[in-house]
Amino acid sequence: MVTTTLSQALAQARARGLERIDAQMLLLHAIGQPDAGRAWLLAHDTDALAPDAQARFEALCQRRAAGEPVAYLTGRKEFYGLALAVDARVLDPRPDTETLVDWALELLAPQPAPRVVDLGTGSGAIALALQRQRPDAQVLAVDASEDALAVARANAERLGLAVRFRHGSWLDGVPGPFDAIVSNPPYIPAADPHLAALTHEPLSALASGADGLDDIRTIVAQAPARLAPGGWLLLEHGWDQADAVQALLRAAGFARVASRADLAGIARCTGGQWPGASPA
Ligand code: GLN
Repeated sequence: MVTTTLSQALAQARARGLERIDAQMLLLHAIGQPDAGRAWLLAHDTDALAPDAQARFEALCQRRAAGEPVAYLTGRKEFYGLALAVDARVLDPRPDTETLVDWALELLAPQPAPRVVDLGTGSGAIALALQRQRPDAQVLAVDASEDALAVARANAERLGLAVRFRHGSWLDGVPGPFDAIVSNPPYIPAADPHLAALTHEPLSALASGADGLDDIRTIVAQAPARLAPGGWLLLEHGWDQADAVQALLRAAGFARVASRADLAGIARCTGGQWPGASPA
């Protein structure tokens, strides 16, 4: 039996087309060192890879090559400094969504004990990140999927964060008022070829009607009645939807409508402030 070192195993995975970081995360998982970090791998690059770990690593690489997100293969994803447990019941949280969290935290900074709702919480990523940063906030997390809520609740419990959860569709039956409504809803057009690369994730978390804006339209329509005067609605959306979402917010009566770029410089979130009761 030829002994494989950790660095050889990584090189083989790279040769199969895996990204370096993906191969590193999967190797740490296969050798039972999920918390060791990638620097640890560099320091142990000549260590031998035991045959059973090698078999596990190869199986994981195969699944990754077939498109499964690394987060589902390892069962974890770091989001805003939180170690979340994730699996195929929820969207794999993206770093882009941290833009939404940053923006909400800035807007809520002057407000003591802010009331916040996260719509379509999935793994709980946004709600839990906000609650961790603002222990004084009252954070409600809503999802139409009981499966997703089970994942999010387990994350809240493990992280010791007092987010409240509710099963439902967007703001249906949610009274408010809120100082901020935040959401990373599904926003990919139903016929978008990009969806073919995302078949491992729940379609209900990704696709939203012909132009991808069906759920955003619903949320924009529901939000004004649930926002406190001066409260904000912040939405994540697709790379080419900022203008459309800005127009929806303005048409609904929102003020200070603006967009924020993600790490790649793409306008990824759009929000507006609810000015208060509309003049009669
Ligand atoms: N940002 C994800 C993607 O395009 C989609 C997430 C979503 O629909 N909310 O891969």
